[in-house]
Amino acid sequence: MRVGGAGRAVGIVTLVLAALLGSAYALGRTLIPDPPSHRTGVPAGVNGPNYADQPPETGRGAQPSATGRAGPGQEATQGGEDHQPAAPADGPYGSQVSTGSAKVALTFDDGPDPQYTPQVLAVLREFHVRATFCVVGENAQNHPDLVEAIVADGHTLCNHSWNHDILLGGRSPDLIRADLLRTNEAIRAAVPAARIAYYRQPGGAWTYPVVSVAEELGMTPLHWTVDPSDWQAPGAAKITTAVTGGTEPGSIVLMHDAGGDRQGTVDALRRILPDLMGRFRLEALPSGAT
Ligand SMILES: [Zn+2]
Repeated sequence: MRVGGAGRAVGIVTLVLAALLGSAYALGRTLIPDPPSHRTGVPAGVNGPNYADQPPETGRGAQPSATGRAGPGQEATQGGEDHQPAAPADGPYGSQVSTGSAKVALTFDDGPDPQYTPQVLAVLREFHVRATFCVVGENAQNHPDLVEAIVADGHTLCNHSWNHDILLGGRSPDLIRADLLRTNEAIRAAVPAARIAYYRQPGGAWTYPVVSVAEELGMTPLHWTVDPSDWQAPGAAKITTAVTGGTEPGSIVLMHDAGGDRQGTVDALRRILPDLMGRFRLEALPSGAT
């Protein structure tokens, strides 16, 4: 049995070595980055716009935010002085994911749209709230009057690609650059002096190249904190609950003024604004212009 014991010892050593090798292999596997999420089922926008800023599966801060935190009368009622907002550039690929202060920013994507953008503008005007509009280039080209109206009301602008190309981040830097520049040109054709300080990638499908090109062109990559998934048209009540329940000091709220039936968003906005205004200061994200 002693021989057997020695054999067993050799066997144990072999097993331990095998386990170590297996661990090293597993570790190596975890060090290989996952393929970009835009290749894993996010619908393509190749044949036209695909208006859906659904969060990428791996995106930080991109989960629907109906967590119920900071409800009425809770921690955020004091303006959140004791709450530390997320670092501004803590989003996917270093994109901006909070305002960096206690202020809250509302953002409206995919427009301008002749039916819904004027309604959103009217509600914001009624409540004296300024926001940020992430406009799609071809929509800006088709509705320059609405781009003008957005700026005339004191809202700030964000580039949202030429035709809402969710796969843009996977294209060459030259193509990305051309898309973003074409979009800025369409915006500036409507408002020549407009400052376009932000770029938001459709679908939140950020990549290193798209972030790099946006920054090279002087635009901050802009993600979001609170996503009520209003593009799915869940109804005004659900949109309202998701935004009022999910918003904290520093939140950037994602909503849509185009890309489908947005009446729920418009109706929700009338309920959201009084709630948020009672708890936070709302701001248009600063464009850097005076
Ligand atoms: Zn969008």
